[in-house]
Amino acid sequence: MKPFTFFSPRTLAEASRILADHNGNGRALAGGTDLLIRMKRGQWTPRAVVSLNRIAGLNEIALNGELKLGARVTLNQLIRSPIIREYFPVLAATARNMAGVQVRTLATVGGNLCNASPSADMSPPLMALNARAVIVGAAGERVVSLDEFFVGPGKSVLQSDEILRELIVPYNSRAARASYKKLEHRAAMDIAMVGVSVAVEFQKAEFGNRNCADARIVLGAVAPTPLRAKRAEEILRGNILNKENIAHAARVAAEEARPIDDVRSSAWYRREMVEALTRRQLMEIRDLRLEIGD
Ligand SMILES: Cc1cc2nc3c(=O)[nH]c(=O)nc-3n(C[C@H](O)[C@H](O)[C@H](O)COP(=O)(O)OP(=O)(O)OC[C@H]3O[C@@H](n4cnc5c(N)ncnc54)[C@H](O)[C@@H]3O)c2cc1C
Repeated sequence: MKPFTFFSPRTLAEASRILADHNGNGRALAGGTDLLIRMKRGQWTPRAVVSLNRIAGLNEIALNGELKLGARVTLNQLIRSPIIREYFPVLAATARNMAGVQVRTLATVGGNLCNASPSADMSPPLMALNARAVIVGAAGERVVSLDEFFVGPGKSVLQSDEILRELIVPYNSRAARASYKKLEHRAAMDIAMVGVSVAVEFQKAEFGNRNCADARIVLGAVAPTPLRAKRAEEILRGNILNKENIAHAARVAAEEARPIDDVRSSAWYRREMVEALTRRQLMEIRDLRLEIGD
């Protein structure tokens, strides 16, 4: 590892000032489960490492109409939080299927997003839930929809002095039944070959109504950034969630994917799996609707 200076500021303003002073040669440190590996391999050689661990408020989980999810909330915190388990169960379920217990104790939601890996597991469900990122930097604060947050593999809209403070996630009926499934070679400790998240809002109507008011479908690991399958969403919006529409939307989602061939999978297989995972989750959401009739 190349030598670096370690900073442990108490405020976001100080952290951002240190990053600004290092002019692109500084990195924020949350859990370190991506950062330290890259530094040990010599892929990243920051001159300053700025720990976020002493900054108050970054690991808060609060629900007040919308969910406020601090960037330094760990995967284990997500799994254990009563708020997340009850109102945003997809986030707890996603965290449970990531890494192993030791890594989940350190790894944070913010780190997963800021690392901007196309296969990161937290990005699709948070995008499907229509989350917004609250970013703080030398120039002040700004809010960016997660739809606009990722710009390429390993690249987000964050400037070198900026820090992700929290995510704001709207709470609505979509949140309760959103889901995420990933395909991996092994059942644990593996990176997604494909990840698909689906969130559906139904029109409020009589018992068992299956008319879809809105749908968000987000694909992971099949494009340079997590990708909304907008044409597939359009097929569902305003229409009944039946087998035919679901099959059609799943097929179109697969067409919208832009996968590549690599060591983990062929592009052809990834596309097939986008279709299967999208269809399966939409069917599950429809069946749950029929069962509980909410
Ligand atoms: C064994 C193992 C298994 C793993 N399994 C999975 C898996 O199943 N799924 C998956 O998606 N990932 C997995 N990962 C990757 C990693 O654990 C996650 O991406 C994790 O959430 C990163 O969070 P962190 O807090 O450790 O980030 P860090 O390593 O601290 O930071 C990652 C990057 O984000 C930046 N950063 C962190 N927080 C902020 C912030 N608030 N503002 C601005 N920049 C910030 C850092 O500067 C750095 O560039 C695995 C890693 C390991 C080692």
